[in-house]
Amino acid sequence: MANIEIKKPVQEVDALIIGAGVSGLYQLYCLRKLGLDARIFEAGGGVGGTWYWNRYPGARFDSESVSYAYSFSKKLLEEWDWTEHYSGQPENERYLNFVADKFGLRPHIQFAARIKSAIYDESNARWDIETTDGKRARTQFLISAVGILSATHMPSIPGIDNFKGQSFHTSRWPHEEVDFAGKRVGIIGTGATAVQLIPEIAGKVGHLTVFQRSPNYCCPLRNSEIDPDTQQEIKASYDEIFAKCNETFASFMHDFDPRSTFDLSPEDRLAFYEEIWAQPGFAKWFGCFQDIMTDTAANEEYAEFVRGKIRERVNDPAIAELLTPRDHPFGAKRIPMETNYYEAYNRDNVSLIDVREHQIESITPTGIKTGDADYEFDVIIYATGFDAITGELTRMDIRGEGGQKLADKWADGPSAYLTLQTAGFPNFFIVNGAVFCNFTRCAEVVGEWVSGCIGYMNDNGYDRITADPDAEAAWTDHATGLTEGMLFTGTDSWFMGTNIPGKKRAFLFYAGGAPAFRDKCNEVAANGYEGFRLS
Ligand code: NAP
Repeated sequence: MANIEIKKPVQEVDALIIGAGVSGLYQLYCLRKLGLDARIFEAGGGVGGTWYWNRYPGARFDSESVSYAYSFSKKLLEEWDWTEHYSGQPENERYLNFVADKFGLRPHIQFAARIKSAIYDESNARWDIETTDGKRARTQFLISAVGILSATHMPSIPGIDNFKGQSFHTSRWPHEEVDFAGKRVGIIGTGATAVQLIPEIAGKVGHLTVFQRSPNYCCPLRNSEIDPDTQQEIKASYDEIFAKCNETFASFMHDFDPRSTFDLSPEDRLAFYEEIWAQPGFAKWFGCFQDIMTDTAANEEYAEFVRGKIRERVNDPAIAELLTPRDHPFGAKRIPMETNYYEAYNRDNVSLIDVREHQIESITPTGIKTGDADYEFDVIIYATGFDAITGELTRMDIRGEGGQKLADKWADGPSAYLTLQTAGFPNFFIVNGAVFCNFTRCAEVVGEWVSGCIGYMNDNGYDRITADPDAEAAWTDHATGLTEGMLFTGTDSWFMGTNIPGKKRAFLFYAGGAPAFRDKCNEVAANGYEGFRLS
């Protein structure tokens, strides 16, 4: 019998959102409120996005739970009690499930639906969607809410598939508990993920071997439980908390000190560093002098202060030196926040291998082979990061006008007007969060902007919106100009795309600050969606 292909029925919706994480859930809420037949296709088995996938021990917010909460519903703010100032993954996942149920979103989410392709049909101004298991849908508006850190990056180390023990990437952590008792565990990577994970499992494993390529400036998180009195204070001051976040550069509760480092005496500077160091959360980064992000000498002084803090906590001076970053400025890479990270290296059952000195040559059936040794493991953990911001989208087959592939358009670096739409891909909005911003704060800004835009189109009889290529080019020039002089751009990291072999080097975030981004989005909307073509 000849092979026949049975075509599955096509779901028709007004708007299809990719991803049921923080931004996708809010986008769904906004569009349903507008009266649209909107639906989320979610690759995972539950809501939460980042907080569904990254279930490794120790995963938690690095920004204050209260500042990461949705602000759109007073009732939600009233009903939800965060138990910790920096809440852990299980609670964060519960929160997003609570939101999905409270606002009736779950029936409009299709789980286990990973998008394989999205092809724009020019004759009907519709997007044709297909999932990896053959589900099909057709939509007027396609909205990517895939997040910034969802495409896992596995290193291309020879033999990676040959390992006979258990192995996984941190963002594909097993749902069932991993039994570490007595096990020999190897972990590759020392970014923000590994820094949360290592102290959690160090006391549970038989032996933990950490393979480090680059040390980071890890800062103490200083997490604590929220006591009942503080809970009441928080609930009474949500308006001020969100107002404060709206004013700060990255929409966190901390903002750079406007003074310049060398305006203060050395004694006053040191006292200031100690003061921010004693505070919880990102105060040690976003609360420092503003010129640490642009002035090499200012940065180096603070970096040396932080190096001193590392040395104080690690018993063996040789290990302390290995853990001390000297190859990049403070804050030019994402600062990992930690709890007992450095103390883990004082344990007898934890060893640190410098991968720069002893390169990983291969993964063997029994472990990891470096230039000078063979290590045997029961478990190998890849804490090797993500193909950030663009990776999830370029891995899908997304084709716009004239069949142009998004991956081809972005081969020389991503470009999207206001970070929201890329020319040639009509009615396709990207609400991933390519703005250097507290994720939820900007997810709300962008979610409301997109629903406002679709509402405007409906009111004015338009059914198609596309970014003007000139407006997009001007925006890209503006965004690139903003990064000039920033210490980010001289450092290799996922911010610059350089962690992915072959990826074009470019600062992947909008660096003008969240308030400027919000103002620009509002201005464009107020001017009839200036820079977009509506038809
Ligand atoms: P990451 O910061 O990109 O770190 C990946 C690590 O793997 C780095 O240490 C990297 O070394 C190493 N690595 C990659 N390939 C390697 C290879 N072939 N051999 C040896 N080492 C290799 O990834 P991440 O730790 O998953 O963090 C990514 C981002 O997720 C963070 O920056 C943060 O924004 C976010 N995150 C957020 C939270 C939170 O908010 N609570 C928690 C965790 C993570 P090199 O540095 O030398 O490249």
